[in-house]
Amino acid sequence: MAATKIPLIKPVISDEVKRMVADVLDSGYLTEGPQTRAFEQSVAAFVGAPHALAVTSCTTGLELALRCLGIGPGDEVVVPDYTYPATAAVVNIVGATAVVADVDPRTLLVDYDALNAAVTERTRAAIPVSLFGNPLDWDRLGRIKERHGLFMVEDAACALGSSYKGRMTGSLADITVFSHHPRKFITTGEGGTVTTARADWAEWMHSYKHFGMAPAASREGTHFERVGTNYKLSNVLAAIGLAQMRDVHGLLAGRRALAARYAELLAGVPGVALPETTPGGEHSVQTFCVLVEDRDRIMAELRGQGIEAQIGTYSLHMHRAYAENPLCRLGEDLRGSREAFTRSLALPLFNGMRPGEQNRVVEALAALVA
Ligand SMILES: *Cc1c(COP(=O)(O)O)cnc(C)c1O
Repeated sequence: MAATKIPLIKPVISDEVKRMVADVLDSGYLTEGPQTRAFEQSVAAFVGAPHALAVTSCTTGLELALRCLGIGPGDEVVVPDYTYPATAAVVNIVGATAVVADVDPRTLLVDYDALNAAVTERTRAAIPVSLFGNPLDWDRLGRIKERHGLFMVEDAACALGSSYKGRMTGSLADITVFSHHPRKFITTGEGGTVTTARADWAEWMHSYKHFGMAPAASREGTHFERVGTNYKLSNVLAAIGLAQMRDVHGLLAGRRALAARYAELLAGVPGVALPETTPGGEHSVQTFCVLVEDRDRIMAELRGQGIEAQIGTYSLHMHRAYAENPLCRLGEDLRGSREAFTRSLALPLFNGMRPGEQNRVVEALAALVA
């Protein structure tokens, strides 16, 4: 008999999630509403941010952040080469130029010296990425921000629950954006959350995602102050996330325990290295990545054995959308990113994963790298 499959991820869909979604469906209130508000409040409280706005995805949230900061044509925004392409796409979507910097293949995060060197007089912001849940070094980013007067918009798609020197991701950047795609820690099916400490920015973003409406307090009937769009997160989707947020500490502890056990089991396996966590940081382990040689063969073999391994993420410069793009300026040396892309392998990790399943992944991997 073939061994059962081990999936890469498994969203947490408890009975409570089903009950809370059913309650919303029964209520008939399906657009943004009380569940969305409660979800926003739970994320704000968890990360220690004064303001949180639920949106349709991390991608639309990043776009919202750049628009709020007035970034547009003629401006430059620095992004890392090794990331999900949405990080750079949003820069182009608002009409600005994406300047692509190399990453450190040991941490898989942006190379801070390369980020610093990529800044010109046109640079208005950077979008550093806390990739896979590895927190960014905010001491270093803070110095770059001060030196050049940049906005820092964190693509924290993967990093809900991570922290740097005791401060949670979501309270560190000027604006932070999380994803709630099913691959991410807390999911709403599709969705995102934007956090900031600035009340004026929160108000602007709230208006923009509600068609440009004026704040409720100041309106006699609905008044449109600006041209805006619709990035509202439905009550139905928010209820999924809200049910998960009720146990967010337990779910995070569970992921970290699985990651610690993987690290222990893999410690004695030659040919398998682990990326380094930022010193002073606590990883949220949205993805458990290992670094191997001959990644594609190993990934194919694992999949052949029913173990759903996956690449880490993408290197922008290897894709036409970014390599042949007048609104994209690639750094000259992107070897760190290429190394990160070539060697990264994401292993299955999900809440409820059993020790026997982890053993099977590690034994299969150890045999393949030998
Ligand atoms: C998943 C991911 C995104 C996209 O998030 P969506 O919510 O699907 O838009 C962006 N950036 C990074 C680094 C991601 O991992």
